[in-house]
Amino acid sequence: MSPKYLLLFVGLLAGQAYASDLTQKQYADVKNFLHELVRAHPDTVRSITVGPSDSGDMIEGVVIGNGSVHNLVVGTHHGNEYGSTEVAMAFAASLAVNPIVGQTVYVVPVLNISGYNARQREERDATGHYRDPNRDYPGPCGTEGPHHLKSTASLAKFIDQENITASATLHTFYPAVVYPWGISTYDVSTPYDNIFRSLANYATEMSKYTVGNSTEVLYPADGCYEDYAFWKSGVWSLLFELGYSHSPSQTDINEMIRTNVPGLRKMLEQAPHERASSHEFTGRCETRRLVRLDKHDE
Ligand SMILES: [Zn+2]
Repeated sequence: MSPKYLLLFVGLLAGQAYASDLTQKQYADVKNFLHELVRAHPDTVRSITVGPSDSGDMIEGVVIGNGSVHNLVVGTHHGNEYGSTEVAMAFAASLAVNPIVGQTVYVVPVLNISGYNARQREERDATGHYRDPNRDYPGPCGTEGPHHLKSTASLAKFIDQENITASATLHTFYPAVVYPWGISTYDVSTPYDNIFRSLANYATEMSKYTVGNSTEVLYPADGCYEDYAFWKSGVWSLLFELGYSHSPSQTDINEMIRTNVPGLRKMLEQAPHERASSHEFTGRCETRRLVRLDKHDE
C-alpha cells in the first residue's frame, strides 16, 4: 500500500471513530471532527464558516486544496439524514490526504444544525416555526421561503462569495443522483441535460444508483438548493440521495462511504471549470403543482 493510500485509510478510520455512536452524535461532535481534521492536515485543510444559523451557531466547514476552481459539498439540509453527514465528513477526510488537483473544495457536513441535533427533518427559524430548508430558496416557480432560515440565506451568500462552480448536496435516501430542474412542472429540461447526466454517471460508477432529472426520478419540489444554485448562478448542482434508509447502521454508512466518496470525487473532477452560461428557466411553472398536491402525503 502506498503511503498516500495508507494515510487515506487512517483518515477514514478516524472518520469512523467519530461515528461510533450515531444516535447520540451532536453538532459539537461534527465541529470536533472538523477541527481535528484541520489540526491533522495543516498543509491541506483550513476551517471556514459559512455564516450564521438560527440555532445560534455559526455553520462550520473545511476547505481543502488551493486550486483556482471552487467546488462545494453540503450535507444535512434535512436534520434527520445523519447518513449524509457521515458521508460528507468521510469525503473531507479523504480529500485531506489527497486533494483534487486544480480545485479548492469546501465541505460543509451540516447545514441544518438544530434539525441535526434533534434528528428531525425541519429546521427551527427565528420565530420558532419549523421549516424545510430544502424548500426555502428562491426559484423560478415559487417556494415556501425564500429564506425564512438564516442557514439557507448564509449558504446562498456563500456560493456567490466563494464563486462556487459545481456542488453536491447530500441527502438520504432513495438511492439516486439527480439534477435540475426539480420544480413542479412538466418542462424540466435544461440545455445541459447531457452534461448533468454524464456527471451523475461519474458520481454513480461505484454505487450504481439511479440517475436522472430530479422531478422525474424523485418528485417535483419548489425552493430546493439545487435548482436555486443553477437558476441563479449556473452552478453545476447535483443532489445525492444516499443509500437505502433514513436510519442507516454503521455498516450501512461504511458502504455509503465506500461507494459515494469516490463518486463525489469523480463528479467534481469531471465537472466543467466554469459555471453554466444558459441557466434561466424558460419553461412554464403551472402544471405539476396539482400533481404534487395530490401526492402530498407521499
Ligand atoms: Zn433530504
